[in-house]
Amino acid sequence: MTLNNTIEIDIVKASSSKIASVDFENLTFGNIFTDHMLICDFKDGVWQKPIITPYEPFLIDPSAKVFHYGQAIFEGMKAYKDDNDDVWLFRPDENFKRFNKSAKRMAMPEVPENVFIEGLKTVVDLDREWVKKGLGNTLYLRPFMIATGHGVIAQPSSEYRFMIILSPAKSYYSGEVKVIIAEHYSRAANGGIGAAKAAGNYSAQFYPTKLANEKGYQQIIWTDDATHTKLEEAGTMNVFIRINDTLFTAPTSERILDGVTRKSLIELAQRDGLNVEVRSVLVEELVNAAKDGSLKEIFGAGTAAVVSPIVAFAYQGTEYQLPQIENSFALQLKEDLTKIQYKLAEDTFGWTVKV
Ligand SMILES: *Cc1c(COP(=O)(O)O)cnc(C)c1O
Repeated sequence: MTLNNTIEIDIVKASSSKIASVDFENLTFGNIFTDHMLICDFKDGVWQKPIITPYEPFLIDPSAKVFHYGQAIFEGMKAYKDDNDDVWLFRPDENFKRFNKSAKRMAMPEVPENVFIEGLKTVVDLDREWVKKGLGNTLYLRPFMIATGHGVIAQPSSEYRFMIILSPAKSYYSGEVKVIIAEHYSRAANGGIGAAKAAGNYSAQFYPTKLANEKGYQQIIWTDDATHTKLEEAGTMNVFIRINDTLFTAPTSERILDGVTRKSLIELAQRDGLNVEVRSVLVEELVNAAKDGSLKEIFGAGTAAVVSPIVAFAYQGTEYQLPQIENSFALQLKEDLTKIQYKLAEDTFGWTVKV
């Protein structure tokens, strides 16, 4: 770390910790937050000094642009504790770069690297007791930025707030996930904001996902908006498809979010000597592979669940089951990745960063 990377952060510590009241064995994802949060405001064209304060609500003008025009972006990442009580981040530079890519697309100011990275390390270090040891225990980190400038005129805000909040999480088993292939609704379109982690992308998914839930499906596999013939993402995860022994995932694009899990799994699969092809899979190919038995696995990939195996998909009213298989690529790659994240395997890629 060079000297000009260090940053001064004012810290106001919580007078007492909430940690004793938390049942770490029974956590609902994203529901409980740690003792502290980081705030850094942008005004008069510059980022102000970051502060860490006790986690608490804050005042915001009702005309703030975040409420009216949805200028809001976020990241999702995790901290892990190894057996020596050291705390690690996983590829935080990737989240930092993606955050600023999202900021640019939403006409928001880019956050300085030291505010994002040093801010993360400082607040995680302060709440390191909240990172529990043992596979599956993590601290979910949520950096985000909202437009705080007042006035209901439809133009970019001149004031913003960058924040980091932290939520303890246990790896979750989401139950059996069945998906519907999108035939009408879209998550993203060319020229749109699908490659950004912009808040509006997620609210736009809620209604079609609710319709899928009512039919007994947990998620939607999104297809390209123009033709609905190419498989793109699964819910809010990237998607992998295994046909025979080849693993396919779509190339990232304006419509497909550049997931850190996706890109890490591709590298791990290549390291393990698996056959990986980065290309779009057609819905037609998927249906044919399901019919002739060559379709082995479909799984989502993302920070929250790491991998999420899919047991069945529906297309044009027909449901297709995935087979039960022994040598699951999904589980192998999940194990490869989590071992690196928890420092149980050597990190030959240089992905882990100590807090
Ligand atoms: C966040 C996200 C992903 C997964 O990204 P990770 O960096 O792996 O967590 C995939 N698709 C969408 C739409 C996302 O928002």
